[in-house]
Amino acid sequence: MVSLCRAIADVLSPRTCPICGQVLAYEEYVCEPCFRRLERTEQAVMTENITEDLFYRERHFVHGGAWLFFHHSGPVRPLIHSLKFRDNPHLGEWLGMQAAREWQKYDFFDEIDYIVPVPLHPKRLRERGYNQAEYIAHGISRVTGIPVDTEHLFRREYTLQQALKDSMERNRNVQGVFVVEHPEEMFRKRLLLVDDVITTGATLRSCIQAFHAVRGCKITIFALAKTQNEISPSQ
Ligand SMILES: [Zn+2]
Repeated sequence: MVSLCRAIADVLSPRTCPICGQVLAYEEYVCEPCFRRLERTEQAVMTENITEDLFYRERHFVHGGAWLFFHHSGPVRPLIHSLKFRDNPHLGEWLGMQAAREWQKYDFFDEIDYIVPVPLHPKRLRERGYNQAEYIAHGISRVTGIPVDTEHLFRREYTLQQALKDSMERNRNVQGVFVVEHPEEMFRKRLLLVDDVITTGATLRSCIQAFHAVRGCKITIFALAKTQNEISPSQ
């Protein structure tokens, strides 16, 4: 029944690959050649990587990585654009599943208690209609079986569009905006903080700092992509 509904929907409004624009036949979200040419960082198997370098000074931070490289003219850019600005949240869940399938074999998700998506401010959530990080988190959860937690980490004030700001301003802009409620419930938990794209790392760093007060917790971070040269995904 689902496949019949999809077949009818495909005739009425064909699904296309967000990277090359080709009509999709059997693929769900991205055509196979485009999916293959997404540049993997392989950071899951590195003992140190350029994503971890952004966070290693933070208390409770254990390790982390981004699945793909985000280049200005590469295929990841239209993918993230579709996820964030084209009302395509389920692409995030699908990408989370693909990343988890690839990184699970490196034991990247072992011993994680909860997957915690970076929260959007309610105002941005109303504008967009969904939190893309939450969809990515649910994709990882579907593969790993680790539950998603959205009941502890909150964002408390609206921040201006980060794309408009330089990295110093971005740091100031997100410092102290995240808060952990009922921190005692996170005592000694191992958490996977999830976001879509890491540019300067300011947002995730601010999230990690919100967990500083939680005793004994350990934090791993995961993002779909890491930009190079601090280009913004919304530019
Ligand atoms: Zn394609």
